[in-house]
Amino acid sequence: MSAESGGGSGSVPAYTEVDVEVLVIGAGAAGARTAIELAEHGVDDVLVLGKRNHGDAHTTWARGGINGALGTHDPEDDWTIHAADTLNEGHFVNDPEKVETVTEQMPERLRELDDWGMDFSRTESGEPDQRYFGAQSFRRTAFAGDYTGEALLNTLVEKAQEHEVPYRENVMVTKLLSDGERSYGAVGFDMESNEFLLFNAGAVVLAAGGYAAVYNRHSSRDDENNGDGPALAHDAGARLMDMEFVQFHPTGMAVDESDPEWEPWSGRLVTEAVRGEGGRLYNADGERFMERYSPDQMELDARDVVARAIAQEISEGRGTENGGVYLDISHREQSFIQERLPRMYERFSELGVDMAEEAVEVAPTSHYGMGGVVVDENAETDVDGLFAIGETMAGVHGANRLGGNSLAETVAYGVVAGEAVAERVDGPGHVPEAVLTSLAEPHLRGLQSTAGVEGEYEPETLLTELRDLMWEHAGILRDEASLQAGLDELDDVRRKAERLDVGGVTSRSFEFAIDLGFMLTVSESVLRSALERTESRGAHYRTDHTEVDSDLQCNICVERTDLGGMALSTEPVDEPSEPVRAALDEGHELDYHQLE
Ligand SMILES: Cc1cc2nc3c(=O)[nH]c(=O)nc-3n(C[C@H](O)[C@H](O)[C@H](O)COP(=O)(O)OP(=O)(O)OC[C@H]3O[C@@H](n4cnc5c(N)ncnc54)[C@H](O)[C@@H]3O)c2cc1C
Repeated sequence: MSAESGGGSGSVPAYTEVDVEVLVIGAGAAGARTAIELAEHGVDDVLVLGKRNHGDAHTTWARGGINGALGTHDPEDDWTIHAADTLNEGHFVNDPEKVETVTEQMPERLRELDDWGMDFSRTESGEPDQRYFGAQSFRRTAFAGDYTGEALLNTLVEKAQEHEVPYRENVMVTKLLSDGERSYGAVGFDMESNEFLLFNAGAVVLAAGGYAAVYNRHSSRDDENNGDGPALAHDAGARLMDMEFVQFHPTGMAVDESDPEWEPWSGRLVTEAVRGEGGRLYNADGERFMERYSPDQMELDARDVVARAIAQEISEGRGTENGGVYLDISHREQSFIQERLPRMYERFSELGVDMAEEAVEVAPTSHYGMGGVVVDENAETDVDGLFAIGETMAGVHGANRLGGNSLAETVAYGVVAGEAVAERVDGPGHVPEAVLTSLAEPHLRGLQSTAGVEGEYEPETLLTELRDLMWEHAGILRDEASLQAGLDELDDVRRKAERLDVGGVTSRSFEFAIDLGFMLTVSESVLRSALERTESRGAHYRTDHTEVDSDLQCNICVERTDLGGMALSTEPVDEPSEPVRAALDEGHELDYHQLE
């Protein structure tokens, strides 16, 4: 159903109302899997929204694989060991219940994807193949060549289409409607047609991705992972958690950013396989510096260790001209590199660099935000009727994420949320008059007045300023003074954001202006949480508190105050179940040496 209301200068602009039982915000793997589960439970009044075209979500960029203890090669593997590995890598601040929910389900989820026709790479006997993917005790990462994310999303989209799940593309949600206790729907706009939209929804599932792109060097797609999910939930009254834990991949491309040919590649991943196949790291003085940081594991140590070592070299002045270090595999034959690292070899060749002849420049890049929205066992947030899943939710990864676990989280929690929502909903939602007049209409007026406003600052310029300050002050190496300075600089950006120069509703600058709001919220929560965590744990490294503090084996939560500020609190971490405790006690070795 749709209706028009409002209009005129200074009044509420015209908008279209959409009534729906379940609104799924996000069309990546998490959103798609939720929609399928809802359909299989007979809930068909569902609308899935995405900011891009159908089938085009960040999930398509995942390459390496998806974890589940299928035991294709290692029958002794099981879900409890998968859970134990995840808790180990998360430095024991993961929520054990969330970890177990994912790991216990995954063998079934993988078999289901197989039944639905996912194009897994296979063993000779036709089983989905499985490999190591860094820091796992057994080979449990299923994969589809080096396009696992794309194969996964294609499979889910096809299945959703079989169920005729309604989908609307190029819609950006700008606000969730809640009175802080209960969710009623959302406001957004159609990025192609200008139309403002108000969704009356019985339940809202937020599957809008993560926040790794709040840093200037990141491995995410452009204009994705700006923190929409966590920022929308925080604004609606839900708590965020673990925001300080950001995984920095050690080897993103370090490039001359003034060169238009190279610039788009800044921060893009150089696969760990280059080190796995023998690549060596050197600083600008020609030292193989990992000898100082990790003489036994060298370049194959855990992601956070190698990333910190590189950051240290750069910060102490031993970096290259483009702010990186050298990654050199030129001691290998050209044919070997072409066979084992075909995509990398091709990418650098196209840019005029022969990896068999010379080293490439790399530096750490922001890859994944482990934090997100606090949810309960049903994936429901603190706000009744608002659910959060996939990269938007918190709890599974703790202080560091195991490669292959985030795709697992998307499908496992898609099922959890789908089941829980199906049990709850009983018809389309209705935005109460008080919420309409106190929240939705002022917000719509704000959107209208932002469109075409003339001012001093382009949104894109401020996005860059914000990303730069996050890299400088909340990057791999953090300390109190720098984090505090980051907060001060963030306040400056916030002040400048009051004088934006923005195009019309369908312009990129309008989208960037909305992104800026989301990114300010998320960046502030990262800075504040990182300041609060006066220890080093997993991906969070404080140069002024270099050790783990056992008193801080807890989660830091961020809540919106009545005046719009942020209040921090801590939550204790629960104990794992008996079977997972037993797997932990067995002491399985994490294998860092088989990076594929
Ligand atoms: C380079 C790279 C490689 C990776 N490789 C792996 C891997 O091998 N294995 C693994 O497990 N993980 C990997 N990951 C992580 C993994 O890809 C993601 O965690 C996962 O795909 C997230 O899925 P999602 O459904 O939660 O979100 P996404 O796929 O990010 O989807 C988010 C959806 O929300 C929509 N959206 C966002 N904001 C709004 C808004 N305001 N309004 C409306 N819609 C909105 C988007 O348009 C999109 O449809 C990788 C990540 C990167 C960056």
